[in-house]
Amino acid sequence: MGDGTKKKILIIGSGIIGLCSGSYLLKDGYDVTIVEREPLGDGASCGNAGAIAATEIVPFALPGLWKDVPGWLLDPLGPLSLRLSYLPQFLPWLYLFLKSSNQKKVEKSTKAMAVFLKNAFDDYRPLLGNTGLESLLKKEGSIMIYKSEKGRTKDRYFWDLSQRNGIEFHHLNRREILEREPALGEQAHCGVYQPNWGHFASPCDLVMGLSNEFQKQGGNQIFDEVESIEFKDNKPRIARTKGGQALEFDHLVIAAGAWSTRLSKKLGDNFILDTERGYNTTLPTPDVELNNMVLFAEDKFVATPMNMGLRIGGAVEFAGVEAKPNYDRCETLLTLAKEYLPNLNGKDGTKWMGRRPSTPDSVPVISPSRHHDNVHYAFGHGHLGITGGAVTGRAISDMIAKRPTELDLAPFHINRFD
Ligand SMILES: Cc1cc2nc3c(=O)[nH]c(=O)nc-3n(C[C@H](O)[C@H](O)[C@H](O)COP(=O)(O)OP(=O)(O)OC[C@H]3O[C@@H](n4cnc5c(N)ncnc54)[C@H](O)[C@@H]3O)c2cc1C
Repeated sequence: MGDGTKKKILIIGSGIIGLCSGSYLLKDGYDVTIVEREPLGDGASCGNAGAIAATEIVPFALPGLWKDVPGWLLDPLGPLSLRLSYLPQFLPWLYLFLKSSNQKKVEKSTKAMAVFLKNAFDDYRPLLGNTGLESLLKKEGSIMIYKSEKGRTKDRYFWDLSQRNGIEFHHLNRREILEREPALGEQAHCGVYQPNWGHFASPCDLVMGLSNEFQKQGGNQIFDEVESIEFKDNKPRIARTKGGQALEFDHLVIAAGAWSTRLSKKLGDNFILDTERGYNTTLPTPDVELNNMVLFAEDKFVATPMNMGLRIGGAVEFAGVEAKPNYDRCETLLTLAKEYLPNLNGKDGTKWMGRRPSTPDSVPVISPSRHHDNVHYAFGHGHLGITGGAVTGRAISDMIAKRPTELDLAPFHINRFD
């Protein structure tokens, strides 16, 4: 910027990761453009459960997890489904997922995620301050419910690993659960309270608000699809769009969620990313009130009290990005929810499916390109995109400004499975 012109940054993707990155980069004084192919309002960053799950540092691929998988797949109410026609495409991801489940790798990923999520709340503050969006953030903790002591004991390794990495939690008996959440029925046998947890009462309002604020602060938001990336003087310099635009940049940030590797591949940066599709239903008149976000451990779904009603969601479906949604999964989750919340009114709900961009080791990619020093990647946040959005935005702005940070980005590098 020494010649008086601002460096141009182009971000592909206007989900939570692109928006947080754009907002931090604007603060550094760059000329920032975000290009997004869909109207805002329906993507993964809008319809999710809204949690800032700052304590969720343990990856999904745990030692011995594979033993549970056949049971989950066979159970029609189970948390996991795989479309058989998708199996061949899914195998490379599955292979790396299983490889990531050895204890040494799990402990390494947990340690990296503990540092990453330490500032999950604090890094949102500069983005929300003076925008009116702070009121969306509720920091009331969460309760994880178990149907039996056996269930809680089964998760011993998870809780032990969390504790060894500095996560605070408190065990609750049934009486203590009901003091906090009187709407829960007999299924709630025991639980765990995690104070360092919060949620946005409308992730969609967060995304819309961040986009408005970004534009108010001088950022450009364009709606078009990037189809190719062209080189000038041996460097990527122009993104060519479906609508015929040629978007020039000094630095490119790829934050395209589950579609990111379609673009990274064009630049020679392969990475095995898949999508864990998830479902939810938002009930406008649930007839039950929850004070905290509630997680149901054995059945693997969550309930979030939102401004527009109670959102019941979860599930993991491997079917690729293109397959049509199977909204029966929403019904399945409502059936389960009624077992825990006997007075729940499941009527008039809005059903939704979203695509989590998931890496095999549950660690996102926040990384420079292997080949081009002006290309940066920010994708693969899986279940934790809202949680890690602001931390990622800050990390990307530090990377481009070449500022030293306390976050060691080696575990987040795109080359880690090479
Ligand atoms: C059911 C469910 C519940 C969840 N709950 C939580 C939760 O409670 N807490 C939490 O932290 N996370 C949660 N998540 C995960 C979270 O929603 C995601 O991790 C996050 O939204 C990913 O954000 P993103 O910006 O990377 O991707 P997206 O939000 O998918 O944004 C990427 C954008 O890039 C655009 N794009 C792609 N290719 C191109 C192109 N070529 N040109 C232009 N634009 C392009 C896409 O249209 C898309 O809008 C949940 C997810 C699901 C499905």
